Amino acid sequence: MSERADVMVVGAGPAGLHAAASAAQTGASVILVDGYPRPGGQYFKQLPATFRTDVQDRHQAALRGLLAQIDDAGVRVLSGALVWGAFAAPDGAGWQLAVHGPGAPVRLEARALILATGAYDRPIAFPGWTLPGVMTAGAVQTLIKSQRVAPGRRVLLSGTGPLQLAVAAGLVHAGVEVVAVLEGAALGANLLRHAGAVVGQGARLSEGWDYLRTLRSAHVPYRRGWSVVAVHGDGEVQEAVIARLDAAWRPVPGSEETVAVDTVVMGYGFLPSTELTRLLGCAHDYLPEQGGYVPRRDATMQTTLPGVYAAGDGAGIGGAELSRIEGQIAGIAAARQLGCLAEAEASARLARLQPDLRRERRFARMLGQLFTPGPGLYGLATDETIICRCEEVTLGQIRAAVADGVGSVTELKGLTRVGMGNCQARICGVLATRLLTRELGGDDADPAQVAAAGQFSVRPPIHPLPLSVLAQAADQA
Ligand SMILES: Cc1cc2nc3c(=O)[nH]c(=O)nc-3n(C[C@H](O)[C@H](O)[C@H](O)COP(=O)(O)OP(=O)(O)OC[C@H]3O[C@@H](n4cnc5c(N)ncnc54)[C@H](O)[C@@H]3O)c2cc1C
Repeated sequence: MSERADVMVVGAGPAGLHAAASAAQTGASVILVDGYPRPGGQYFKQLPATFRTDVQDRHQAALRGLLAQIDDAGVRVLSGALVWGAFAAPDGAGWQLAVHGPGAPVRLEARALILATGAYDRPIAFPGWTLPGVMTAGAVQTLIKSQRVAPGRRVLLSGTGPLQLAVAAGLVHAGVEVVAVLEGAALGANLLRHAGAVVGQGARLSEGWDYLRTLRSAHVPYRRGWSVVAVHGDGEVQEAVIARLDAAWRPVPGSEETVAVDTVVMGYGFLPSTELTRLLGCAHDYLPEQGGYVPRRDATMQTTLPGVYAAGDGAGIGGAELSRIEGQIAGIAAARQLGCLAEAEASARLARLQPDLRRERRFARMLGQLFTPGPGLYGLATDETIICRCEEVTLGQIRAAVADGVGSVTELKGLTRVGMGNCQARICGVLATRLLTRELGGDDADPAQVAAAGQFSVRPPIHPLPLSVLAQAADQA
C-alpha cells in the first residue's frame, strides 16, 4: 500500500506543522507523518487521548488553531506512523519514505520532502549515570506534563540551560522536593555580552522569571557553575556527588559535596535527530553549539540534496519559535519548487519572515554559546562507566580498543559493538565520538578534531521494527 503527494513532511512538532500548513495553503497536496499517537511534537505535547482532563494551557490553545489550519488546507495527517527509511525514488524524480504504523501506508512518495524530526536529550556519562533513578530532563517533563506522574520524592537537577528551570518549577508544582538546581555554566559577566540577543524576547524572559520565582518561593537553591559528578546507590539512586566546575567545566578538586536524593535529573541540552538526513546522504557539519552534527542548508532550509528540506530542532537546536519560522520557510520553498507558488509571491512571503528568523537565530546562538556543556564533563567517566547502554560497552573497553589500534568511530563500532543496539547510537554516539577523540590524543573541544574521528553510519531501519514489517517491505519491493 503506497501513497503519493506533492510534499511529504516528517514530524508534527512546530516545524512540521507549520511546514505542512504553509505548503498546503498554496494548493500543494501534503502528507504529514509523525511517530507519536497525536500531533504536536515536544512543544505542543498532547495528553494521551485516553486521559480525561480539562487541563488546557496556552500551548494547547495554539495547537488547536494550528491543527484547524492544517485541516482546512487538506493536509493528510498520519499519526502513530514511524518513518524507518528514506530513499531517492527509483525514477530520480522525488523521495520515498518507508513507514510503519497501524493503518498507515507502508510507502510514501513525493517530489519534495521536509524533515522536521526534532531533538532528544543530550546524555553526559558519569559514574552511576545508568542507575535507576537517573533520568533526563525531557523524560521527567514528559512524566509530569503528559503522564501526571512524579519521578521521585527528593530530586536533584543537574545540567545547563533554561529547560532545567521549567522542569524544576513543574516538579515543585507537582509537590516534589527539589533539593537543588545545578547550572553548569557560571553565567555572571558572560550574560552582559549577550544583552542584544534578548531584545524582543519579553515573553520568554517573563516565563523564565516565573520559574525562578517558583523555585525561590519553594527555597530551591539555584547553583551556577556546579554539576553532579557521580551518583551512588545500591541498585537505585541514593546519593549524588556534586562539585564546583572550573572554566572548562572540570570539577574543582576539594569542592565535592554529597547529597541524599532518590532521583537525579540530567538536563544537558538536546541533540538534533539527524538519522533521516544522514541516511539520505545530505552533507552535515559538526557544530557543537547547535547540538552536534547538523545538515548543511541554504537560506530556504534546503539541504545539499535538491528537494530535501530540514527545519526545526532536527536541523540544529533553536527552540520552538525558530522551528515555526524555519518550517514556514521550508513549506513556502517546497511549494515554489513544485510550481504551486509563483516566484514573486514566494519571495515576498520569504522576505516577510526574515526579521523573525534573524531575531530567533540571534537568541538561539546566545543559548548555544552560554549553555553548551564544556569539555570537562566528558572527563567524568571512568574505566567502569558504561558509555553504550544498549550494548553495555564501558570506557575501559573503548580505551582497550584504542590501544589495539582503533582510529575511527566506524572501527570502534566494529570492534566493541558501541552504537549497534536499539538506540542506534542516538544516546552514545556523541559520547563515544568525543571520548574516542580524547583517547586518540586529540582535543574534543575542537570541532575539527571531533569530526576527524568520523560519524556513526546510519542504515535502515532507523528504529527497531517487527521482522514482519521488513518482510512485507521486501515483498512489495
Ligand atoms: C524532551 C524535550 C522537552 C522540551 N521542553 C520544552 C519546554 O518545556 N519549553 C520549551 O519552550 N521548549 C521545550 N523543548 C524544546 C521545544 O519543544 C522544541 O524546540 C520544539 O518542539 C522543536 O520543534 P520541532 O518541530 O523541530 O520538533 P518536535 O516538536 O520535537 O517534533 C518532532 C516530531 O518529529 C517526530 N519524528 C521524529 N522522527 C520521526 C520518525 N522517524 N518518524 C515519524 N516521526 C518522527 C516526533 O514524533 C515529533 O513529534 C523541549 C524539547 C525536547 C526534546
